[in-house]
Amino acid sequence: MDSGGSGLCEDRNKGVKTMNYDILIEKAQEAMKNAYVKYSNFRVGAALLTKSGKIYTGCNIENSSYGATICAERVAFTKAISEGEREFEAIAVASNLKGFTYPCGICRQFMSEWGLDIKLITKSGDTIRVHTIGELLPEAFVEFERDK
Ligand SMILES: [Zn+2]
Repeated sequence: MDSGGSGLCEDRNKGVKTMNYDILIEKAQEAMKNAYVKYSNFRVGAALLTKSGKIYTGCNIENSSYGATICAERVAFTKAISEGEREFEAIAVASNLKGFTYPCGICRQFMSEWGLDIKLITKSGDTIRVHTIGELLPEAFVEFERDK
């Protein structure tokens, strides 16, 4: 888990490019600035890297009807999917809270639709953690036999 070392990248899935993670984290932090957080002041930004190398960002958008609020991760995914993207490599998540930022249960389920191997990147201080969606959502409810 947290190695505590400076600039260490905890990569549980060898062979991935750590370079992208720094860029992705920066993009997530940048996207966080656009968060619409009138009610909680909990700012979240996300940056989603497609397998083709494109990056889509998202921020959380709250609503006076709290249930209508959408998380940064799902904003990034819906932007990408609506542009025709279907293959994803990694998503970085950043927030204005101390420590690592992890996706909520709804986002874990939402993202699992697109692959349990997608990496989730989160950073605290100088430490970057890398997980797969599958690690964050054990025994995931995934695609079932439809129309067969
Ligand atoms: Zn969420």
